[in-house]
Amino acid sequence: MSFTAAIDIGGTTLAAGLVRRDGRLHSRLEASAPTAADEVVAASLTLLERVIGEEPVDAIGIGSPGTIHPIEGTVVASDSKPEYDGARIGPAIGERFDLPYAVTNDVNAAGVGELAHGIAQGFSRVLVVSVGTGIGGALLINGRLEEGMHGTAGELAHLLAGTDGERPCGCGRSDHLEAVASGPAMVARSVARGGPQTLPEIAELAAGGDPLAAAVLTEGALWLGRAVAGLANVIDIDALILTGGVTQIGPLYTDQVAAAFTGEVMRPLRGVPVLVGALGSDAPLIGAATYVRARLGIG
Ligand SMILES: [Zn+2]
Repeated sequence: MSFTAAIDIGGTTLAAGLVRRDGRLHSRLEASAPTAADEVVAASLTLLERVIGEEPVDAIGIGSPGTIHPIEGTVVASDSKPEYDGARIGPAIGERFDLPYAVTNDVNAAGVGELAHGIAQGFSRVLVVSVGTGIGGALLINGRLEEGMHGTAGELAHLLAGTDGERPCGCGRSDHLEAVASGPAMVARSVARGGPQTLPEIAELAAGGDPLAAAVLTEGALWLGRAVAGLANVIDIDALILTGGVTQIGPLYTDQVAAAFTGEVMRPLRGVPVLVGALGSDAPLIGAATYVRARLGIG
């Protein structure tokens, strides 16, 4: 039996794994993620070599930040991580390993994983929202990933979420959802008010009833839930799925996102379930492997 190798290029962490045909993860390794495009590519090659070792592998699936060229597997735009713009992640992996490969956006990969093996199974119009170092989205329609004409379908990081111009976004504009509700955005708000400087500390203090930390989490959850509700009205979904590092805070955060979402959506959508991904931080790896097998027609 052979495995499908997968790599998940995150904002702060690289993860690589070998995935079985049934979607279970056989092995997983992590490394910290560099910033510059060529360093990310080099670190990804090294981590893949380590995780593959001598194991039989049929293909490599890659989940990468940014907007991905669907054929070439290059990063055509990286609005949230400008230094990663233009990364030739797919071709570099193809040359090194002499294996078929496919690249998709990292949140798209997480969505495909949840659709094939996780909590999105059985739903027909799903919006997946990832909250971590950045914010991302994936749109799953009738059992398949909707990638769009330019690869931005489901992308919600740069939705307008404010008008005062005071929160610069990684894309160079301002007041975008990612600049208001991502993990680093919440930390920045906490620090500006003299609060804790990491998300785990904010979460711990908020759980203990600290008003400043609780307010930071609540504001992030409110902005996210309300902005996503507007998008859900446009698309008309039957499930909203939350994933990404920030959701690991647990119900203290995700319940507030769900309440904000349900309070904001149009009436016909008020019963739409808000679910937390079942695959956790393995979703992008499992999904990237599923994605490449589907692209290549490997059963
Ligand atoms: Zn932006």
